[in-house]
Amino acid sequence: MKIYNTLNKRKEEFFPQRVGHVSMYVCGPTVYNLIHIGNARPMIVFDAFRRFLEYKGLEVNYVSNFTDVDDKIIKKAQEEGVDPTVISERYIEECKKDMEALNIKPATVHPKATEEIPEMLALIDELVLKNHAYVAKDGTVYFRTRSFKEYGKLSHKNLDDLEAGNRELLVSGEDQKEDPLDFVLWKPKKDGEPYWDSFYCQGRPGWHIECSAMSRKYLGETIDIHAGGEDLIFPHHENEIAQSEACTGTTFARYWMHNAFLNIDNKKMSKSTGNFFTVRDILRRYEPMVLRFFMLSAHYRSPLNFSDELMESAKNSFDRIRTCVDKLTNAINMSEGTMLARNEYAIVEKMSQFKMDFEEAMGDDNNTATAISVIFELVKYININMIEMSTKEGFKRMKDMLLLLCDILGLIVEKKEEVLDEDIEKLIEERKKARADKNFARADEIRKQLLDMGIVLEDTREGVTWKRV
Ligand code: AMP
Ligand code: ZN
Repeated sequence: MKIYNTLNKRKEEFFPQRVGHVSMYVCGPTVYNLIHIGNARPMIVFDAFRRFLEYKGLEVNYVSNFTDVDDKIIKKAQEEGVDPTVISERYIEECKKDMEALNIKPATVHPKATEEIPEMLALIDELVLKNHAYVAKDGTVYFRTRSFKEYGKLSHKNLDDLEAGNRELLVSGEDQKEDPLDFVLWKPKKDGEPYWDSFYCQGRPGWHIECSAMSRKYLGETIDIHAGGEDLIFPHHENEIAQSEACTGTTFARYWMHNAFLNIDNKKMSKSTGNFFTVRDILRRYEPMVLRFFMLSAHYRSPLNFSDELMESAKNSFDRIRTCVDKLTNAINMSEGTMLARNEYAIVEKMSQFKMDFEEAMGDDNNTATAISVIFELVKYININMIEMSTKEGFKRMKDMLLLLCDILGLIVEKKEEVLDEDIEKLIEERKKARADKNFARADEIRKQLLDMGIVLEDTREGVTWKRV
């Protein structure tokens, strides 16, 4: 299996450090609003990868945080005149609802920054002790960036170029940093802001230290995969590496995966210009699985454009898979035979090629786009070969294969089995018998009776099917 590692800018063979186990950390959202569809992209693409790893028999310890202390949360709380926890708890709950709708598996742990402050302070203490951090007069704690020799290795930036871009901070004299490149680990409280006691001052953590502390607590000093959107490469992930590695002296994350951005009508999605949609906006117009399908139809490292036309086309494509599943379900209901017929063996056997192609695509740096095209090849194969099939077992094998591949991507393609009332089922059976006896008058009467009960019958080549009016 290969992963494109941002650290080395190439695809690398993936070996977890512990056989059979994968530790994975995905940076989660700052909870001050409903999540937008851009935030949903990393959630969906890395959930698909996690599902694939699990399908391959690996146990995945998957951690994704909620940033629940932040300037934007505090601002919103002040606007509404409530405590910041009211805002963060509200949007964590809403985010979980969106995740459930999109069939994103809950993480093994979803730590909240505010509940992990002692771990962050412990990390900061260690960094101060090791001279990688220092305390300014007002109690702010800064990371001493130049003390970490490998700074810039993830974003492939050069320290001197970075410094040139930040020089005015020092010249202005407003900054109490030793070096413009240093960044905040802990900052003093301001009036009305949430704060925690610490040896340095009453205050709150900087953003980057959160993820370093939480991943160490839940996944250990070295994690297998760290993931997030590409906007996080610099400075967030670069700073996470610096803090963690300066403290532990060992590799922080072995593979770094970054998703490209989701744009709207080819323009960068941005909250400030109002050019964004929340997941909730989209779910009013489309089923959640259509949005999930849309996200997975592109490779996670390619920019993805969101537009009405593309969503319509995703809806139509996704419907093709569902129609095929429905056809198979009906065929299973209408047929018999627990053993494959002689001619069916070869047809069923050939399907394993689709499974192999699918696995190859997913094992090639989570290529969900190719994996989806394999699903469409399978749909085509089933549509062509269904005509040759006759046994329940044969149709079942086809359906199982299609559902297996969709399930690895977390795509729910099957309508929940509706349980019909006993009376309705009896009538359908009676009509079947009436038709077999060529009593068409009675069959028509039953059809009308069922229609009055809201059930429409359709006579298809595979047999009789029903749907609600
Ligand atoms: P934030 O709440 O801004 O920290 O974002 C949470 C996650 O969503 C991070 O992994 C971001 O990189 C990611 N993200 C934010 N906007 C987009 C976007 N337009 N496209 C893809 N990922 C995004
Ligand atoms: Zn993070």
